[in-house]
Amino acid sequence: MSDSPIWHPFTQHGLGEPIPEVVRGEGALLHTKDGAQVIDAISSWWVTTHGHAHPRIAAAIAEQAAVLDQIIFAGWTHGPAEQLARSLRELMPASLTRVFFSDSGSTSVEVALKMALGYWLHRGEPRHRILVMDSGYHGDTIGTMSVGARGAFNRAYKPLLFDVTSIPFPAEGAEQQTLDALENACRDGAAAFVVEPLVLGAGGMLMYPAQTLAEMRGICARHGVLFIADEVMTGWGRTGTLLACEQAGIEPDILCLSKGLTGGAIPLAVTMASEPVFDAHRSEDRARMFFHSSSYTANPVACAAANANVAIWQEEPVMDRIAALSERQVERLAMLATHQSVRNPRRMGTIAAFEVGTAAGYLSDLAPRMLALFREKNVLLRPLGNTIYVMPPYCIEAGQLDQVYEAIGEVLNEVA
Ligand code: PLP
Repeated sequence: MSDSPIWHPFTQHGLGEPIPEVVRGEGALLHTKDGAQVIDAISSWWVTTHGHAHPRIAAAIAEQAAVLDQIIFAGWTHGPAEQLARSLRELMPASLTRVFFSDSGSTSVEVALKMALGYWLHRGEPRHRILVMDSGYHGDTIGTMSVGARGAFNRAYKPLLFDVTSIPFPAEGAEQQTLDALENACRDGAAAFVVEPLVLGAGGMLMYPAQTLAEMRGICARHGVLFIADEVMTGWGRTGTLLACEQAGIEPDILCLSKGLTGGAIPLAVTMASEPVFDAHRSEDRARMFFHSSSYTANPVACAAANANVAIWQEEPVMDRIAALSERQVERLAMLATHQSVRNPRRMGTIAAFEVGTAAGYLSDLAPRMLALFREKNVLLRPLGNTIYVMPPYCIEAGQLDQVYEAIGEVLNEVA
């Protein structure tokens, strides 16, 4: 049993399981204190897009930290934030003209919700109802849990969560039901619809077609309901394009980005908004300013890391790496799909997922058992209930990905 005082996130303390200590990261590889080399097959919680310790990002962080480490961002600005905001305006959909900074995926969604409610209040037609999708996940703050799936994660906080209207996930063959439910909910009046485009991550790597995403956006537009795209996980190339929204040819009213924004090296998030959303908060009336901040809003070091990430996207063959990884995921998943325990294999861009035949809920002991077996095999995979998914850094080598799939095959044999 460890004598560490650390209370880890989403970790069951009490089993006395050893918690490996990582001392160094390099590309898709992690080196532990006891000398093991572990392949990071989930990009360390979906953040490390270009691999660990990318030299350009590491250098940008060191350089910026020596020049300007932190500056209050209310009423002050700095070069790295200005540069990043301009780059994002160029890279992201044209209608998203404003960039609001925060520190994590959760806060980017909290900010989006607050922007949507402020928009309606300041237009003089207050609306409070938020539409969400079943199985959605948007973070672990009270606000973001409210718009996410209800269950074991948030049972203790239920009385504090606000009411939302949930529409069904567009399961294959039932897309029209989702669209009808959304249309009805919009007719009843709503401030916004918040959704993860194309892939619902923590809800089980559930995937749905771009056509459905496009139709959902169209419904919201027709009813004047703000469309919030939470691309915290799907953004920065995960689904094969810079944004998942791109595949549906849509532009949201509000866009949430984090994780890959800094190449996963340091916390930072942005919520991008359309001009009408910003305009509703622009006034000579002090009561209409946007009341949100955190101490580290737009931290210069984090912005410098994000600028390095943008430079990598512009100057390195990132899309080629994504295409090669996606292709390899197709091949490896097809080979694995012949295993008797593999159910519902699916892929979107660089993300591959399937369910293990053994039915098991999120809290069953199947996931921790598989996690421990993967650790023994020096592969970092963290199943969601009985869903195994592979979401590696784009720089993972073919041989490393092969090792990940070999480990999965062995673990399936052991738990089946
Ligand atoms: N939104 C989505 C779609 C996510 O996948 C996550 C995290 O996994 C979040 C929001 C929350 O991000 P963070 O953990 O950085 O607060």
